[in-house]
Amino acid sequence: MATRVLVLGAGFGGLELSTMLSQELGDDVDVTLIDKSDTFVFGFSKLDVMFGRTSAEAVRLPYAEIVKPGVRFLRETVTAIDPQARSATTDVATHEADALVIALGADYDYEATPGLLEAGNEFYSVAGAERLAGIVADFSGGRAVIGVCGAPFKCPPAPSEAALLLHDHLSGRGVREDCEISFVIPLGTPVPPSPETSAALEAAFAERGIEFVPNRRVSSLDGARGVVTLDDGSEMPYDLFLGVPRHCAPQVVRASGMTDGVYVPVDPATLQTRFPGVYAIGDVAQVGVPKAGVFAEGAARVVAERLIAEVRSAQTSAAYEGRGSCYIEFGAGRVGRVDVDFLSGPKPTGAFQAPSDELVAEKRLFGSSRRQRWFAPAP
Ligand SMILES: Cc1cc2nc3c(=O)[nH]c(=O)nc-3n(C[C@H](O)[C@H](O)[C@H](O)COP(=O)(O)OP(=O)(O)OC[C@H]3O[C@@H](n4cnc5c(N)ncnc54)[C@H](O)[C@@H]3O)c2cc1C
Repeated sequence: MATRVLVLGAGFGGLELSTMLSQELGDDVDVTLIDKSDTFVFGFSKLDVMFGRTSAEAVRLPYAEIVKPGVRFLRETVTAIDPQARSATTDVATHEADALVIALGADYDYEATPGLLEAGNEFYSVAGAERLAGIVADFSGGRAVIGVCGAPFKCPPAPSEAALLLHDHLSGRGVREDCEISFVIPLGTPVPPSPETSAALEAAFAERGIEFVPNRRVSSLDGARGVVTLDDGSEMPYDLFLGVPRHCAPQVVRASGMTDGVYVPVDPATLQTRFPGVYAIGDVAQVGVPKAGVFAEGAARVVAERLIAEVRSAQTSAAYEGRGSCYIEFGAGRVGRVDVDFLSGPKPTGAFQAPSDELVAEKRLFGSSRRQRWFAPAP
């Protein structure tokens, strides 16, 4: 009987893992890939939707297009996970496996920030970005605050990109001079492992008159008074709020007893949890790397290599290295890149590549190549 691998979550991690297992093992593996959604959306597409560069419909990639040997996609919602039994229950059935991979990502804890949804907006969900597209398009005067409500959060450069793209958007509409932009982040610099990247971003903020407020978290919003309260009790007036909500592991993961505090602890080299044959990859895991698609994908490759070796009764030295490259929109159609390494040295490092035309093309290829690899039928 083929080895049964149950993959919970078809995001960056789950898609890469299923693709690799299918490519290497074909019908010698029985992969069940489960997601509650019927489509995948790249994180960076949310910025494009918010600034009206595209529509939410255009960036949705339907899971129905996944046709890969050995892989079966099920649109179901996971309601319980039993790591000891390596099984998961959904709204439809209970699925058992020889290997269980938790790739359910990070959820948003909107209630943790009073007023966030009632008096502000968030751009980290597709629905939030879509709603903001209409609001941003009409904003033509006053103070816009881009605020982060807690760390860690997905893709640390994303709110910096939002600030620079908002500047472009308002300039393009001829209303920038009637608006102020402030950016609040609970980190000391925009991209802490890379001083060079942070310096380039801070210079870009200064050139555009964007107020940068580091080391502060947004703790609440008061719509009636039009103020944002920060974690030191200080207040900031606002007319438009673009928020990054506080993150947490999905409720079903927290209820499974696998988390230690907020996320799922794993062996950083193998991504195995404390339960044999149960792995956690991507944003749901606690590995010591940022929450970003490239890191989820890197973790997926290591778990795939280990499972492939197991099926073939072979040895593998595959170990997670915690490296990844993130593209950063600098505005005016320019894209830079930071190559970060979180686990190999005594402290994280990040090498910066200044914006260039080549990086614009590379970012485009980053999206299109994954779309092809994960969704196009195997050749
Ligand atoms: C604005 C923004 C910009 C970003 N830009 C970048 C970027 O440029 N580069 C980059 O590398 N990363 C970027 N990211 C981060 C990236 O999107 C995430 O880090 C990445 O998607 C994490 O992958 P994952 O596989 O861990 O989880 P996800 O991709 O979030 O996948 C988790 C999946 O689990 C499913 N799920 C959750 N709960 C259940 C349940 N109970 N039942 C069934 N299914 C469930 C979800 O529907 C989802 O499909 C960005 C994120 C945002 C918000």
